[in-house]
Amino acid sequence: MNVNQSAPPLPPFGQSQPVYPGYHQSSYGGQPGSTAPPTPYGAYNGPVPGYQQTPPQGVSRAPPSSEAPPASTAQASCGQAVYGQFGQGDVQNGPSSTVQMQRFPGSQPFGSVPLAPVVSQPTVLQPYGPPPTSAQVTAQLAGMQISGAVAPALPPLGLGYGPPTSLASASGSFPNSGLYGSYPQGQAPPLSQAQGHLGAQPPQRSAPPQASSFTSPASGGPRMPSMTGPLLSGQGFGGPSLSQPNHVSSPPPQALPPGTQMTGPPGPPPPMHSSQQPGYQLQQNGSFGPARGPQPNYGSPYPGAPTFGSQPGPPQPLPPKRLDPDAIPSPQLNELPPQQKTRHRIDPDAIPSPIQVIEDDRNNRGSEPFVTGVRGQVPPLVTTNFLVKDQGNASPRYIRCTSYNIPCTSDMAKQAQVPLAAVIKPLARLPPEEASPYVVDHGESGPLRCNRCKAYMCPFMQFVEGGRRFQCCFCSCINDVPPQYFQHLDHTGKRVDAYDRPELSLGSYEFLATVDYCKNNKFPSPPAFIFMIDVSYNAIRSGLVRLLCEELKSLIDFLPREGGAEESAIRVGFVTYNKVLHFYNVKSSLAQPQMMVVSDVADMFVPLLDGFLVNVSESRAVITSLLDQIPEMFADTRETETVFAPVIQAGMEALKAAECAGKLFLFHTSLPIAEAPGKLKNRDDRKLINTDKEKTLFQPQTGAYQTLAKECVAQGCCVDLFLFPNQYVDVATLSVVPQLTGGSVYKYTCFQVENDQERFLSDLRRDVQKVVGFDAVMRVRTSTGIRAVDFFGAFYMSNTTDVELAGLDGDKTVTVEFKHDDRLNEESGALLQCALLYTSCAGQRRLRIHNLALNCCTQLADLYRNCETDTLINYMAKFAYRGVLNSPVKTVRDTLITQCAQILACYRKNCASPSSAGQLILPECMKLLPVYLNCVLKSDVLQPGAEVTTDDRAYVRQLVTSMDVAETNVFFYPRLLPLTKSPIESATEPPAVRASEERLSNGDIYLLENGLNLFLWVGASVQQGVVQSLFSVSSFSQITSGLSVLPVLENPLSKKVRGLIDSLRAQRSRYMKLIVVKQEDKLEMLFKHFLVEDKSLSGGASYVDFLCHMHKEIRQLLS
Ligand SMILES: [Zn+2]
Repeated sequence: MNVNQSAPPLPPFGQSQPVYPGYHQSSYGGQPGSTAPPTPYGAYNGPVPGYQQTPPQGVSRAPPSSEAPPASTAQASCGQAVYGQFGQGDVQNGPSSTVQMQRFPGSQPFGSVPLAPVVSQPTVLQPYGPPPTSAQVTAQLAGMQISGAVAPALPPLGLGYGPPTSLASASGSFPNSGLYGSYPQGQAPPLSQAQGHLGAQPPQRSAPPQASSFTSPASGGPRMPSMTGPLLSGQGFGGPSLSQPNHVSSPPPQALPPGTQMTGPPGPPPPMHSSQQPGYQLQQNGSFGPARGPQPNYGSPYPGAPTFGSQPGPPQPLPPKRLDPDAIPSPQLNELPPQQKTRHRIDPDAIPSPIQVIEDDRNNRGSEPFVTGVRGQVPPLVTTNFLVKDQGNASPRYIRCTSYNIPCTSDMAKQAQVPLAAVIKPLARLPPEEASPYVVDHGESGPLRCNRCKAYMCPFMQFVEGGRRFQCCFCSCINDVPPQYFQHLDHTGKRVDAYDRPELSLGSYEFLATVDYCKNNKFPSPPAFIFMIDVSYNAIRSGLVRLLCEELKSLIDFLPREGGAEESAIRVGFVTYNKVLHFYNVKSSLAQPQMMVVSDVADMFVPLLDGFLVNVSESRAVITSLLDQIPEMFADTRETETVFAPVIQAGMEALKAAECAGKLFLFHTSLPIAEAPGKLKNRDDRKLINTDKEKTLFQPQTGAYQTLAKECVAQGCCVDLFLFPNQYVDVATLSVVPQLTGGSVYKYTCFQVENDQERFLSDLRRDVQKVVGFDAVMRVRTSTGIRAVDFFGAFYMSNTTDVELAGLDGDKTVTVEFKHDDRLNEESGALLQCALLYTSCAGQRRLRIHNLALNCCTQLADLYRNCETDTLINYMAKFAYRGVLNSPVKTVRDTLITQCAQILACYRKNCASPSSAGQLILPECMKLLPVYLNCVLKSDVLQPGAEVTTDDRAYVRQLVTSMDVAETNVFFYPRLLPLTKSPIESATEPPAVRASEERLSNGDIYLLENGLNLFLWVGASVQQGVVQSLFSVSSFSQITSGLSVLPVLENPLSKKVRGLIDSLRAQRSRYMKLIVVKQEDKLEMLFKHFLVEDKSLSGGASYVDFLCHMHKEIRQLLS
């Protein structure tokens, strides 16, 4: 019997995975274009914006070096780089070290590096051979050198590096008013500093390391993080908060008609990433000037991906990165050229650069599709544009792991301390070039599963006994194959129909669920959306209510809909509230909407059933009339108090009465102080910061919201919250329900229509239109030996295995941590199967299955060679951000530092070749772990500046919880793009530079984005022509600081910059409002907060300092 009974005949499932038109899933992937609305929404209906620019390019891009690069040499250069010597005492400013010293057991079972070359992947050995060969020396040069004593002596050069005090020398000419009081003075203009550095260090890198001693770069391809994530909204630096930076006087959004402006994903943005090729290499790292040394070596060091996974890599270990802090008279010195010995500063160009790693990965892995047929392959970085071909494992768009090769035993795992985790985005949107998962319909019998562990049929199941039975790949149970599913096996033991069936040949697919998978054994009704609008004084006065009502009139035409459907099946309802609730009957038969007021908020009920939830097209006239009237009805309100919990309660009750799942869109302005359940008081207290009670700032002030959330989850009621606070609203408490129901929180501090409507409307449109799975349950099954033990994200769990999500959209991830419960086997590897049961937006019950096979290893080197730092950081950030709920922030930070040191020390001890203790050796795949971890440590949640509010911290904490790997990557390490360095004609995104003030040239303009914030920084010496072209004013001094919209000018530069801004916005899930910052203007402090390689005002260490600190920690562990 054929698998797809009710579905149209499947085209043969060829290996090559043709696209099966018949199956394509409507709901994911863009909606049909025919319905594309006029301008404002057009972009949303199309293919997911975020991906627009990416995909195809990967393929066509000219691979700079797609063929396996000359492995040996390349790797040698980066692998072996020695990062200078640090003076003993120079761990400056690093975070205080409370790290406990931990000794590794003398006998490392896995350790003994020098001894046994692993057969299949001989990496363990010393590829690094006897230390100093000439090649090595060069490599070492590339490293940073520092020697304690002298730092202070090098004045101009050392900005920020060198002695701790260096930062203080930062910008002196700031008008520095009281606002940013602590800002250091006296800094030389960035440019000169940069030059200083360069001058000092030119030689390095120029000599391409001849890697003679290291041969293969096998695995360690660099994989880096990238930039893509959301941001914080409101950091305020005392002055203008980010969310309302405009108070500086930004002109209203010009040229953009209210409804239209920047709706989101601006048309097809120019290909962003794919283009960097030309010229890029030279520019590497964004350093200025030629001094940058021969990057070329860098570029190819990582031989594409070839070596991952089970493929036997070339026999050599990865060249580690070394940093030699130690000091002065370390044996190392002998290996250094004289010149180096005298250096006393760490050259920032010599420490691992995120920009370089990202660039290398794009060059090496962006040109070919990532084919998922091989177990344990490490995918390209999230910053690389690439296409995925599903050949049996889930795409990295759905699942990314901290390591694709996991230790066979828990002892090994404990020794390495590398968290084993997967970041899963079950409903991830795909680029248009990639097919959505096929839907398989097994009819009444439903999906085939293992009788014992209930795992779903997947490509890893083994058919035996001529095809009459199958052995479960997760629990080994032998199951009978139902007669209707029987098929013969070929001579290899594979079913002859394997390629005709998605569930036997693909990593991801869907099953239509039977009624057994439905609540109360009843197929679900289509979901409903309820819009619940605060109409208290603040909401009216800011113009929010009028703006929102106007927008909703058209937005309701673009509710998510199933593939080919003419219109959305989703019904809508409307509620307004302040201290009481107003329900509206918008039944199509009415001439005018009717209002029903419920003032008994203590015992919420829904006063009407019929006419509350309606079909948009049937009730359009009544709805329009209602939306016209709401702003008028409350125009003169004086009511300032609001309720909150009763509003959610009402929405949930309405869904319950309608027997459907759905989503509540709440638009709320203030702390709910009106007498009602869930009433809150202002408990903000900054004095708690850095005390043991700081955690209470992140905890909800009442348990009422958890209880309410639990009820919502049971009903499949997801809550999205749009906040418009003018002051503290207790985000930590208000976000509990959205958080536990899989919803989203948006915050627009001090919302004003003229300044913020663009951002709000863009977010709203996207939020309302995005595809959502309702009433969902996710379960992650694993093969014997490991199991899922911990979960992070926006969801609710009532037991230890099932992740319950009232709603789950394509932006949300769930991070799952695994632990061993038995020994794993190298041969069989480890398997994960994520099954998500959900109701589609048309009310269809489905199961989405993602499978992923990982390798298992008995050598630690294999673990380190197959790690993904970006994913590790995603996990570590979520772990830390949850930790602040229960532990002092300092404890959380120290825990992260300790763990990181243990990870790196274990590598050093067990996988790296013997070398001076003074050298810092980092695994190739983790060479960015220190820089990224430092960004997490100094983030607003873990180390807030004086101007970061309690609400901002709670907000960010909550946002990060659901971020995917790309989002955390750019969120913690923002992308900084110089705008005038590359030719205007170039259609591609300019190469990024490192996030440090030192990289800024005062003659240039830069865009900085972190997924939530977007700045345009203008150097004080930028050419007048550039100023004219972009701002239409004649001089730098006439540029309006804080501007949020660039004038629309018809010249190439203006078009290019505006186009770039649009394309950056299109890549992110939330709208990033632009803030123009002038060099040395007071707003610049805001901007500098995001230059994460520098020391931060709140005390966060600079990258260099942190690296020194990490090195010290590692040495303590090793000694
Ligand atoms: Zn089983």
